[in-house]
Amino acid sequence: MQDPIVGIDLGTTNSLVAFADARGPRVLGPGRGLVPSVIRVDPTGVVVGESAKAERALHPHTTFASVKRLIGRSAAEVRDAGAPQGLGLVDGPRGLAAVRVGDRTLLPQELSAHVLRELARVASAELGVAVRRAVITVPAYFDDGQRQATRDAARLAGLEAVRIVNEPTAAALAYGIGRGHRAAETVAVFDLGGGTFDLSILSVIPGDGTGLDGEFLQVLATAGDTALGGDDLDAAIVAHALPPYEAWLGGPATPQGMERLRAAAERAKCALSTVECTTERIEHEHGAWELVLDRALLESLAQPLLDRMAACCRRALADAGAPAIDRVVLVGGSTRVPAVRALAGRIFGVEPYTALDPDVVVALGAALQAQVLAGGRTDLLLMDVVPLSLGIETAGGAVAKMIVRNSAMPARATEMFSTGVDGQTAVKLHVVQGERELVKDCRSLATFELRGLPPMPAGIPQVQVDFMVDANGVLAVHAVERRSGRRAQVQVVPAYGLTTDEVDRMEAESLEHAREDMHAHRVIDLVVNARLDITWIEEARTRAGALLDAAYLEDLEGHLTRLKGFIALAERSPGQVDADAFHAAKDALDRASMRLHEAAIVQSLQSMDRGVKGVVQP
Ligand code: AMP
Repeated sequence: MQDPIVGIDLGTTNSLVAFADARGPRVLGPGRGLVPSVIRVDPTGVVVGESAKAERALHPHTTFASVKRLIGRSAAEVRDAGAPQGLGLVDGPRGLAAVRVGDRTLLPQELSAHVLRELARVASAELGVAVRRAVITVPAYFDDGQRQATRDAARLAGLEAVRIVNEPTAAALAYGIGRGHRAAETVAVFDLGGGTFDLSILSVIPGDGTGLDGEFLQVLATAGDTALGGDDLDAAIVAHALPPYEAWLGGPATPQGMERLRAAAERAKCALSTVECTTERIEHEHGAWELVLDRALLESLAQPLLDRMAACCRRALADAGAPAIDRVVLVGGSTRVPAVRALAGRIFGVEPYTALDPDVVVALGAALQAQVLAGGRTDLLLMDVVPLSLGIETAGGAVAKMIVRNSAMPARATEMFSTGVDGQTAVKLHVVQGERELVKDCRSLATFELRGLPPMPAGIPQVQVDFMVDANGVLAVHAVERRSGRRAQVQVVPAYGLTTDEVDRMEAESLEHAREDMHAHRVIDLVVNARLDITWIEEARTRAGALLDAAYLEDLEGHLTRLKGFIALAERSPGQVDADAFHAAKDALDRASMRLHEAAIVQSLQSMDRGVKGVVQP
């Protein structure tokens, strides 16, 4: 690899570097790759990231965070906007916002350069070559001065900023919006982080589809609130919990106690993104205090914040000329809050995209833009058809194909499924991709659960599963149990991490194994259905066996034994099963059990004491 171009999300709180190649875009660096945008200037050197953040309280005067709020702005402007706490803002050269460390005055770009240098180091280490070029993202509302200052920061870090891209544009690119731009579309990018909220309305300009060049996604309007984010939600929880906490403490909370309460509030908030109710403990020497919170309470605490977000969205929509919104992209950790997602969906009238991690989506988009600028192949991402079949796992590890390969995008399919075990209250749905018949030979894309089903006998729940691949290749899978109305959903981008070679290999393998795969799938289905039949028949025999003669029952037992023999063989060595004979044995049992089923109906009608003698033909 020569002189790669990486994508960098230089954030207010955290920064990230990503890279895209034939396998698609990925974040670089250890763990989730998030580098806190925190810089400490020591007399002996500079500390960046996690350690600077962790030791912030020990070095309050030499540690800087939220530098992005200062970059390229005048000190007066920053003061008017309400300067961030603890940054030690001073007037720099030409009245620019700057900070002071000892007797030195530092410009924000000098501080940001340290973060960029750290990201370049991480990327170089992982890619094994020196990284000297980057696409860097900035908020859509950044003016020329702020963009130029960001370029300067890159230069100071030894990086060429090949292009400065708007964050919402990058987020849209990560979802494939705008590539091959088939038609005009309007996109809302909803970005809610820890401290800020940004809403952008973008327009996709239809073109010849020759490439991703930044200009085909135009910003129509932006609105936001630089003092609205997940931190405010934590603060609302703290305000609610403080009186009972202090009552338990028997006096006012110390600063340390307040910090522990805040941390518990944030943990509770994050937990409530996936569960309905949570308990967070705050340990003290004389015992533990419990913060108990459920989703409904969190939502009522969040309501004033949600109202402010809604007002911003409406303002941006009005500024953009009230267009109909075709897609909604979510960015920022706080968009994991279900009430926030629901708000975004309600205001714009479309279900938001959630397939990608909202913390990394901007960096991934920047990496894709970088890949195009580096002249890397983009054909992979420009597919207009579903490259490999999409399906779900069914009992026994078989795949039910929902959308077959080469279907034109957008594509859609709906099928009905049921349970295989009595009283099942949850169904696990496993979404897979590939041409083979068994799950073990396919690529796993996602799993999700449909929970809270009322217990019903096997086969009675009606689980309707919908697959929808939209024009950008984003797959949304919805499942709803029709009797109870319970629903669940998941989104994925099936083309991520897939190379054309891999697609070719998977197709070739499916041809090579076609015969054995078909056999294996058929045997699995036969086992599942035969088991259900046997369960039903044995139950009916327990209830109504007394109404039938011994010879019939003996004959039925023979059929049952034969079918059980096939099931046992299928479990031991499925390859040896004669599927036709298995099928015939199952049919024979089904036919033989007709009399039993009739008797079972008579028996249940008699037990209702209606005096019914028999069942007439339809
Ligand atoms: P960002 O600035 O984009 O990194 O977002 C950070 C914010 O997202 C913080 O306020 C976090 O508490 C919040 N956050 C992270 N994960 C979750 C989650 N699972 N549910 C709710 N909020 C979250």
